[in-house]
Amino acid sequence: MSMAPALDRPEPVCGMDSWMPVPARILKVHAENFNTRTYTMQFVDPDIARRYRFIPGQFNMVYVPGVGEAAISMSSNSSHPEIIEHTIRKVGSVTRAVDHLEDGLVGLRGPFGRGWPLEQRPNHDVVIGAGGIGIAPLRPMVYWLLEHRGQVGRVVLLYGCRTPEDRVFAAELEQWDREGSIEVLVTVDNATGDWVGPVGVVTNLLPRIKVSAARTIVLVCGPKVLNRVAAWNFLQLHVPPNQVYVSLERNMNCGFRRCGHCQYGSKFVCADGPVFCFSEIADIFGKEEI
Ligand SMILES: Cc1cc2nc3c(=O)[nH]c(=O)nc-3n(C[C@H](O)[C@H](O)[C@H](O)COP(=O)(O)OP(=O)(O)OC[C@H]3O[C@@H](n4cnc5c(N)ncnc54)[C@H](O)[C@@H]3O)c2cc1C
Repeated sequence: MSMAPALDRPEPVCGMDSWMPVPARILKVHAENFNTRTYTMQFVDPDIARRYRFIPGQFNMVYVPGVGEAAISMSSNSSHPEIIEHTIRKVGSVTRAVDHLEDGLVGLRGPFGRGWPLEQRPNHDVVIGAGGIGIAPLRPMVYWLLEHRGQVGRVVLLYGCRTPEDRVFAAELEQWDREGSIEVLVTVDNATGDWVGPVGVVTNLLPRIKVSAARTIVLVCGPKVLNRVAAWNFLQLHVPPNQVYVSLERNMNCGFRRCGHCQYGSKFVCADGPVFCFSEIADIFGKEEI
């Protein structure tokens, strides 16, 4: 069975190469931590809401009228695409403005990009490494793995954030751990409050899990440094490069390989990624300013 990421991608609701956002209404807001919220949204047009599909790891361009657009991953279950969740950390103009909308309306373009590989090798293990808000594009993948539990071997989620209070999807992390379908290990940089769990970076968790390298698929999303260190650590453990996948973050504008903002060597992160197989980008991975 091929390990290449699925190529048949859902058609963007705005059309293949359109800059025109489609209105969506925010139905619910859930605070994950002090600066991150999960927004539950639905397209205003019921026909578009019915047609919309996405693959875990894909993203929308979220538009706030009069402010601009930002690339934001879907964080919800791709089996229920009529309800879309975006988990957004407030860092700049668009991500702050989403939190202060008077009418609860945003514009969406998407889905864009290439998601996580869904054609798993039967009985292969899946190890997920996520840092901070990097868990957002991986949550749909966790849902997918839980729904297809019989098709994969062991599933391990390694998650790291600054403090216990910074955890995103904290209640679900605890629920997944309790239910036992997947192994969940969380580490924090600073143990505040009554935290008694691991302290340190995500890759410090690796000695706690035994990786059967040849039969392990690795999925990583986090800050640049985590992506690099995690990918290299798994390669050092002899996980084959074509079984290591990393979701990259680049400044984006169009979403459909026209504007060049997200160019990464010969690749466009918006369309060739954001999920890349390590073997595709081995020669440029970790290089700055390319
Ligand atoms: C494929 C893809 C998927 C993404 N998914 C998500 C997601 O699910 N949730 C989410 O919250 N973000 C996500 N992002 C990141 C998001 O697109 C950026 O943070 C975006 O720049 C925010 O737009 P803005 O207008 O609010 O901030 P900007 O005006 O672009 O940035 C304002 C300031 O914040 C700084 N800044 C920007 N991004 C970051 C950052 N990540 N960390 C620290 N400082 C930063 C900039 O350097 C600048 O100084 C994703 C990015 C990509 C490429």
